[in-house]
Amino acid sequence: MPSFQSLGLTAKLVEAVEARGYSEPTPIQAKAIPAILEGRDVMGGAQTGTGKTAAFALPILQYLFGNRSRHRAPRALVLAPTRELAAQVEKSFYGYSKGLGIYSCAIYGGVKMPPQVAKLRRGVGVVVATPGRLLDHASGGTIDLSRVEVLVLDEADRMLDMGFMPDIRKIIDLLPSERQNLMFSATYSKEIRALARELLNEPMSIEVAERNSAAEQVSQVVHPVERSLKRELLSHLISEGEWEQVLVFARTRHGAEKLAQYLNKNGTDAAAIHGDKSQGQRTRALDRFKRGSVRVLVATDVASRGLDIRQLPHVVNYEMPDVAEDYIHRIGRTGRAGEGGDAHSLVCRAEREKLAAVESLLRMKIPRREIKGYEGEDIAFTGKKSASGKRKSGSMRGRSRDGARGGSRDGARGSSRDGAGSKNSRRPAKAKNSAKGRGEAREQDRKFSRPKRSPKASSFSAEDGEKPRSTKPRKGKPKWSAARKRAAKLKRAGKPATRRPSGR
Ligand code: AMP
Repeated sequence: MPSFQSLGLTAKLVEAVEARGYSEPTPIQAKAIPAILEGRDVMGGAQTGTGKTAAFALPILQYLFGNRSRHRAPRALVLAPTRELAAQVEKSFYGYSKGLGIYSCAIYGGVKMPPQVAKLRRGVGVVVATPGRLLDHASGGTIDLSRVEVLVLDEADRMLDMGFMPDIRKIIDLLPSERQNLMFSATYSKEIRALARELLNEPMSIEVAERNSAAEQVSQVVHPVERSLKRELLSHLISEGEWEQVLVFARTRHGAEKLAQYLNKNGTDAAAIHGDKSQGQRTRALDRFKRGSVRVLVATDVASRGLDIRQLPHVVNYEMPDVAEDYIHRIGRTGRAGEGGDAHSLVCRAEREKLAAVESLLRMKIPRREIKGYEGEDIAFTGKKSASGKRKSGSMRGRSRDGARGGSRDGARGSSRDGAGSKNSRRPAKAKNSAKGRGEAREQDRKFSRPKRSPKASSFSAEDGEKPRSTKPRKGKPKWSAARKRAAKLKRAGKPATRRPSGR
């Protein structure tokens, strides 16, 4: 394995990684760092936990450091699907850039805008953002994207999955056409390949794990169990296995909350993170878990994106995910950067089809292990498997994006500063994103974009695949209550009940 130095990194950056305790580059770093330093576009097929953040952060910082600019506008833009991932990636940039004089900031929703605006005003080299909030800034004129020279799409598969494609297109329209593009995705789909073809210019394709393979170091096991016994079994596994830290995935926000409450009541310290929690609550829960002051973190899928908890040995799928690919993301939370780990799935009969979809995606059967006292649940699946874990139409479509905040993002369309930066581009010329390219891009967009969400679903501000909340404001008592009262009053008075004219 080459050393960080031999990859062409400067002494300062080598020092920074050594200070973090990395002795040698991971495979994705060994392949991606030299290519990115050369200025090439890269398509990285790497799961989370492979060290992909450093694989793009280090060469970006080296480029920015070696090619100073007096401008305050960001020169590198990383788009991430969730707040947690954006925060995590920015933290990495911050850690690696110490002493370089290159500043970074994270831009995501769920927190106040002014501190982000203040940071942008002071000047930052790198912005790591979720698409929704970034467009809020762009439409408000608080960020200038015309000087971006490097664009990174991190966890691109998640971004497509969460319906971010239209926002990404709007953002790309605001960037200079000449830039370096880097894309990372844990899983490959037709859409991802099409996006790569469209966005990347003669990219170097780097894959460090088999496509759609689950993290290799993770040992996986399925525990068949009746739904009503899952909570007990989880407590049992935690105490019997003397697990000190375990990340548990629940399917819904409500389920995550209830489970954390149950565990706390039963003497196991647990915290929950999900879309109903404020960003502050999520951050605090994660910090407590990282510090070891809570033993169990119960998370929903989207809330868990970007969680980087080193040496997390156990992951539990308390419920199987609706989308088979999520299984790969979930178990990627353990076995990070070469560490071992185990992933336990508690599967009841009703979930056997979801399990079959996961196994079909992994192209392997996960070993079953019944736990004494919880045996007898038949999870054998004989029906037609849902092909390669593809979601069934409609499932999880209502998942909204992280940090999305209603309509203000759309205002970004009018503020395109396209082309402004092409003269300023300091990267090797990239013949991408021409007007024609963008025309095609829009055409593609139609192909990529998920089916329109119902008006109800579009108001769904969190992410866990739960039922969207009603869009109707709930003011006072329901209308029928007043109408009924009036009818009852009239009845008592012996008068026939008449309808009030509508539109009162
Ligand atoms: P990532 O895939 O970027 O989320 O990184 C996963 C974890 O691996 C993070 O905790 C990193 O700090 C860690 N990591 C990144 N590069 C290395 C390396 N070369 N050696 C050891 N750990 C690393």
